[in-house]
Parts: sequence; structure tokens; C-alpha cells
Amino acid sequence: MKYCSHCDELIRKGEAYDEQSIDVATGPGITVYRHLEPCRPAVPRQTAPVGLGR
Ligand SMILES: [Zn+2]
Repeated sequence: MKYCSHCDELIRKGEAYDEQSIDVATGPGITVYRHLEPCRPAVPRQTAPVGLGR
């Protein structure tokens, strides 16, 4: 099972993803996966501000 490190969603079979190996000095390296298609906007936009009712 591969999970996207960007959106924490499961990467399904057939979905394009990027694979990146990260070397860890204290043990075996880890591999992270990310959707190739932007699954989350780089700059989050607030369309409905919450907590500004003062
Ligand atoms: Zn993703």
C-alpha cells in the first residue's frame, strides 16, 4: 500500500505517482510517494474564514 505524502490519500493502482528515496542515517532509507497530479493546491486558499466573528 502506497500513501501520498502530500495528501495522505491512498495511491491507487494506475494513478501516476512520484517515488522518492530518502536516506536515513540511523537505518534503512524510506521511500515516500506523491501524486504526480497536484492533489492539493500549493497555496491554501481560505474561502470561508472561521473565527472572525468578533
Ligand atoms: Zn496526493
